[in-house]
Amino acid sequence: MTKSLRCRDIERLVLESEDRALPAGERGRVEEHVRVCARCREFAADRALVRAELAGVRWPAPPKELVLRTRRLLRGAGAAAPPVVPVWVLVAMAAVTIITSIWLAVALPDITPEISLADLPFGGLAAIFIIVQNALMLFCAPVVLRTARARRDKLESAR
Ligand SMILES: [Zn+2]
Repeated sequence: MTKSLRCRDIERLVLESEDRALPAGERGRVEEHVRVCARCREFAADRALVRAELAGVRWPAPPKELVLRTRRLLRGAGAAAPPVVPVWVLVAMAAVTIITSIWLAVALPDITPEISLADLPFGGLAAIFIIVQNALMLFCAPVVLRTARARRDKLESAR
């Protein structure tokens, strides 16, 4: 192995040591070579100096407009590919619908068109109240989510 090639190997190992801890064998070879080779010793010292200087730099925060524009672009990229409802959600919804239908078919024969809400037992009224409440929540959810997102975006752009 020629001297110049060996120096090139040492330089490569010095650079690699910035990203990962070298195995003891390689670290020993580098230390041994640097002790006798002024050129590589200078290279390693320069790299150490550069690393130290970079570590001390306080990177400036990106401009606010750049951050907002990047977020908007990312959100636009997400809108281009609309989210897909997972299969398990569809299966769960179908199962609940089928179970509810069977349950209602068994429970409804006692209920005739002449029965009013006042005739229903307390449990029946509670069940109707929960159904109405769930339906309202379901229909209002998109409005609530859209409003919350708009408020969050407004707060972020104000920052
Ligand atoms: Zn060398």
